[in-house]
Amino acid sequence: MTVDIASLREKYLAERDKRLRPDGASQYVRLADEFDIGDPFTPMTEREPLTDHTTVVCVGGGFSGLVVGARLKEAGIEDVRIIDKAGDFGGTWYWNRYPGAQCDTTSYIYLPLLEETGHMPTEKYAHGPEILEHCQRIGKQYDLYEQALFHTEVTDLRWDEDQSRWIIRTNRGDRLTAQFVVMGIGPLHVPKLPAIPGIGEFRGHSFHTNRWDYDYTGASLEKLADKRVAIIGTGATSVQAVPRLAQACGELFVIQRTPSSVDARDNRPTDPEWFAEMATPGWQRRLLANFADVLGGVAEQDMIRDGWTEMSRKIRAEMVALPAKERTMATRMELAERADYEKMDQIRSRVDTIVADHDTAQHLKAWYRRLCKRPCFHDEYLQSFNNPNTHLVDTDGKGVQRITADGVVAGGREHKVDCVIYASGFEVNTDFTRRSGYEVTGRGGVTLTDHWADGMRTLHGMHTHGFPNAFVVQPTQGANLIANIPSNIVDSAATIAAVVGLAVRDGHREVEVTAEAQDAWAELLSTAPASTLGGPDCTPGYYNNEGQDRGPAAQLLVGYPQGPSAFFAYIEKWRTAGTFEGLEFR
Ligand code: NDP
Repeated sequence: MTVDIASLREKYLAERDKRLRPDGASQYVRLADEFDIGDPFTPMTEREPLTDHTTVVCVGGGFSGLVVGARLKEAGIEDVRIIDKAGDFGGTWYWNRYPGAQCDTTSYIYLPLLEETGHMPTEKYAHGPEILEHCQRIGKQYDLYEQALFHTEVTDLRWDEDQSRWIIRTNRGDRLTAQFVVMGIGPLHVPKLPAIPGIGEFRGHSFHTNRWDYDYTGASLEKLADKRVAIIGTGATSVQAVPRLAQACGELFVIQRTPSSVDARDNRPTDPEWFAEMATPGWQRRLLANFADVLGGVAEQDMIRDGWTEMSRKIRAEMVALPAKERTMATRMELAERADYEKMDQIRSRVDTIVADHDTAQHLKAWYRRLCKRPCFHDEYLQSFNNPNTHLVDTDGKGVQRITADGVVAGGREHKVDCVIYASGFEVNTDFTRRSGYEVTGRGGVTLTDHWADGMRTLHGMHTHGFPNAFVVQPTQGANLIANIPSNIVDSAATIAAVVGLAVRDGHREVEVTAEAQDAWAELLSTAPASTLGGPDCTPGYYNNEGQDRGPAAQLLVGYPQGPSAFFAYIEKWRTAGTFEGLEFR
């Protein structure tokens, strides 16, 4: 395949320029008024405020809290309390119940603790209800329900220096204490809306995909049969929801500002015979390691074989075919760039082979490098536009102009609809403490907001000087393996269980990263290549802070310089050495 990289580069920049806007990330607002409907899935039960003490409190009952909780229990720490604003475990899978929701990385590495729970995912890409059920399975198996507090939002975390413990306050009036706190709040838990003029004037029904209104749509969307529906946004959520909506709605208007790249999905049921043969002891760990190795270009065999590993596999094959002296980092970068242009070209050609209407097909083509926006995979999304009731409303990068009492003005005309669904994403680039919803006050009254005012400062993305006995579960400054967030979580949980396990076993009251170790880590990170996600040449989106420069703090949003595989190998050694270099136990 030959692609004209120079002219594509120009086209990509022109498409980016169309979409850059001065208000950047502040074009969005949080859900308020009729959108802020609380928890539509589980009724809230009244309870008295609590004032007790546990060894560990985990803030967040998604994958992070669950896997950390499980590993702590395995390490013999019995009193682990998970707190979540939702009515059950599940995190993102609790809230995101939009039709068609499913994982985009293969289930065999996306669902954590499969080996421990003995669950065989039913499909290569499991659907939302199965993933939510798996979360509940982990909660039950590891006895995490008994001490969990649901429908409870942490409002304040404060280090008590005299008692060497954290004081945790919540919106239910609790004043809890814990020796250790774990913050696993998830990267995408605050839904956002575009601040479109007229949004409050709409007389029909509206909701955000993160709070799907099944009362309105019906459990199988059957109540939409006579409705005209608009869905705003064409990101990963919309790509999964549109095929179901296209089947269900009287008329569907898909309002597009920037098309997603949508590659083949190739989902299939799990073959139990294949699974039984593959799932020998240690299988999930091996698959997780292989995924990181393939993406890093260091695996001979690709055991995952999905849309995330395909390009890396190809680049590696081209590299190993070269004479040894030509296998340099510069050659790898060159091959990666070419592979990217070719892959995007192939994805654009795929649109032509699927979408019957020529004009519609042209508008569904993504003009940017693959990791400028979240790559999507689906075998029914593009096909939906062949359905006569499904209309693509392309806005040539401009977005919705206005919401009226009767509908949506976009692409130069008003589309009268009964319902507007906002698939407009989540707040990502704001301060950690703004997204978490609580301040964290450490030693000497220093707040995490102040401590991280010029950017994140940690050891391994997890330990922060001045905040003893506190762990943050998130990928940045660690493995930073974005294509499968659970890879990071599973590894972080092993670290937390090892550190807390040692502290409890040996009777330490406190464990804290030293300032020197934190500085040395920052020094090491300063040698890391810039993140492959987003970048200034990319079309705006949350990967590149809507195209706005984040200043020096952005340089800290990187991972281990040698990549995820090397990080996992490094941290495994660090963890098992037993000395936990850089941490001070006292
Ligand atoms: P995104 O932020 O990816 O998409 C928001 C969409 O809304 C974009 O298409 C955006 O357009 C559009 N939009 C925003 N403002 C306007 C406007 N004024 N007019 C018209 N359109 C507008 O949110 P998603 O919920 O789709 O996905 C968020 C993330 O969640 C994904 O990137 C992924 O990481 C994760 N996710 C994971 C899934 C999985 O693993 N299975 C499934 C779904 C989501 P524009 O692009 O121009 O900004």
